[in-house]
Amino acid sequence: MKIAVSACLLGENVRYDGSNRFNEELNKLLKKHEIIRICPETMAGLPVPRCPIEIREDRIVDAQGQDYTDELSEACRECLKRIGECDFIILKSKSPSCGYKEIYDGTFSGKMKEGNGLFAAMCLENGYKIYTENDLETLKEILD
Ligand code: SF4
Repeated sequence: MKIAVSACLLGENVRYDGSNRFNEELNKLLKKHEIIRICPETMAGLPVPRCPIEIREDRIVDAQGQDYTDELSEACRECLKRIGECDFIILKSKSPSCGYKEIYDGTFSGKMKEGNGLFAAMCLENGYKIYTENDLETLKEILD
């Protein structure tokens, strides 16, 4: 299978604080498959480390109100081109870019709200099936 995966789940240090979210079990499942690494935020030219960003009233901003919506939208479109025809996508939960179904609420207080990150929303609009690292049981059935 050909699967697009958030780069931080694969162990790349691309998160805002310079860390990753390597998921050992997920990476074992992915070994036999073709992987396309994507990170919309670094694709947008955002540095590592960087200020955390969240979605507030449909804009992507950092805590000081600096707006990254345009560059991140462009980067998400580039990521969509890169993933092309893949079987599905595995995205890092909660992120303002990759988050699926639940994201931080834009107050930089750690609270969550229903919604999708910018890239996840574009993937859905384009008909891609999305899983997150929280769907390991389902992914085991599909990938093992
Ligand atoms: Fe991970 Fe996505 Fe954030 Fe990049 S944009 S660090 S891949 S959650």
